[in-house]
Amino acid sequence: MTNVDNEFVEDGIIEETEVNQCSSCGGNTVYDPVTRGLKCPFCGTEVEIEATRENTTEHDYLEALDQADHSWSNEKRVFKCENCGAETLLDNDKVADFCAFCGSSHIAVTQHDAGIKPALVLPFQISKEQAVEKFKKWISKRYFAPSRLKKDHELKKISGAYIPYWTFDSHTKSAYTVRIGTYYYVMETRTVHRDGKTEQVTEQVRKIRWRTEYGRYNKFFDDVLVKASRNVASGLIDKVEPFQLDGLLDYRTEYLSGFLAERYSIPLKEGWYSARGIIDQRIRNGILRKETGDEVQIVNVDTSYDGITFKHILLPLWISSFAFNNKIYRFLVNGQTGKVSGKAPISVWKVMFTILMIALVAGIVYLFQDVL
Ligand SMILES: [Zn+2]
Ligand SMILES: [Zn+2]
Repeated sequence: MTNVDNEFVEDGIIEETEVNQCSSCGGNTVYDPVTRGLKCPFCGTEVEIEATRENTTEHDYLEALDQADHSWSNEKRVFKCENCGAETLLDNDKVADFCAFCGSSHIAVTQHDAGIKPALVLPFQISKEQAVEKFKKWISKRYFAPSRLKKDHELKKISGAYIPYWTFDSHTKSAYTVRIGTYYYVMETRTVHRDGKTEQVTEQVRKIRWRTEYGRYNKFFDDVLVKASRNVASGLIDKVEPFQLDGLLDYRTEYLSGFLAERYSIPLKEGWYSARGIIDQRIRNGILRKETGDEVQIVNVDTSYDGITFKHILLPLWISSFAFNNKIYRFLVNGQTGKVSGKAPISVWKVMFTILMIALVAGIVYLFQDVL
């Protein structure tokens, strides 16, 4: 990992809170993943958040740019990282000191629109302390890492960020052409040369008879999920999936209090192209299950996509990194399930030793295979 500024090494202060004033002391309350309510970090006062799941509004894809709710821009300002390009959303009166995704301090407010307001959010269920515990467990299990990694690594600041996703629904109608193969067997006689003599050998040979079939396949796809982020950590995000989407709740600004949100960097249209790719693959699998034959080959599928609707949703992620031997290694913790993914240093000696041991065991087995 390169381009990480030294500022990241310091415990940088990022003002990421929403304004939700505490009724007792006037401090800013933040969302607490443990109680799933708001909590005042100064006096401990807790406030419940009314969790609802009523938002069933699906935005029409084709009319999205006119109709989608852009009122988020009234709440949020967009900060852009000059280093990695990630855009972070913070409350209008807050300032970002560093980029949560790459650690750079080259981050400045932009005039960019906050974009389409999220419909649903999966609130954090893993607290910062729990995320650090998960990380410690993970790092202690890095078998190929240098032995001193466990105690000598330096944990950096950890940021809780909501990552943007798109989900799409669509009714699909497909007309398709397939080739269906049926096996049959014939006896064939051929000439072989054996020990200098010529012989006739008769044996059973498998052949395939092909026929072409036409069919229709209709299916409704619900909540096809695609990532709307291409931040520098997005390669690791796939490895902390899946998220349990039945935990999605109506978007409320309280859930973001004390956390960051990333602005989507994959536009709606591009998101739909990805979703369509997933849908097309599922249609092909469905056709292959429907058509029976010894072999089935898809020649052509022609699909119409009707009633395409979408939702913008936010999923929770802890983002951090650790330093070891003057190098920075990024890692992520799923904010709902606690699953960890990251890169860790590798000890060349441990890898070599393991390969040597495997080779040794294989060698012994080979030498003694007649005896055993
Ligand atoms: Zn308070
Ligand atoms: Zn960055």
